[in-house]
Amino acid sequence: MPRAMNEPNNPMPKEWLAADLSQQYVADYKPFNFVDGEGVRCSLYLSGCPFHCPGCYNVAAQNFHYGQPYTQELEDQIIEDLSQDYVQGLTLLGGEPFLNTQVGIRICERVRATFGHQKDIWSWSGYTWDELQKDSADKLKMLSLIDILVDGRFLLAKKDLKLQFRGSSNQRIIDVPKSLATGQVVIWDKLVR
Ligand code: SF4
Repeated sequence: MPRAMNEPNNPMPKEWLAADLSQQYVADYKPFNFVDGEGVRCSLYLSGCPFHCPGCYNVAAQNFHYGQPYTQELEDQIIEDLSQDYVQGLTLLGGEPFLNTQVGIRICERVRATFGHQKDIWSWSGYTWDELQKDSADKLKMLSLIDILVDGRFLLAKKDLKLQFRGSSNQRIIDVPKSLATGQVVIWDKLVR
């Protein structure tokens, strides 16, 4: 769907698929950071995002070929880093994690197999919760594996630097298990602003 001036792209349901777009590339991996969610986190930046939000915080990672291929060695390093007691969990961001579900599902399943729910999983997405509900099976599977979703495009007109973990006021910090269980969006219970 064409976009209006100064607004992100708006896909139809299932218009964009990881099977068609993902190169399974990683823009960056940042272990032991304090900014990508609650507590100390290991953050995996997955390459490629066609939302193209004006004002995007990571324009380079909009390219699906940016960075390096995801490897078994990186995955093993992530698991080792997460095993530190002081690390709360894994964060997926990008780029668009839900258009890199081959990697996202693989690392989420490995985290669950290794740590159960002792480590939590956060993910950012340009998709809204409601859009994901109408989209492809791989996106819904990845959603079912994560704990917290920060949803929606970055909108310059709603930019607010005071918000926790998000850049514009349309974006929400969503408790995924509670939302899936109740069938409606449940906001993270530790939200302050
Ligand atoms: S959804 Fe996020 S990564 Fe994608 S263009 Fe928008 S701000 Fe950038």
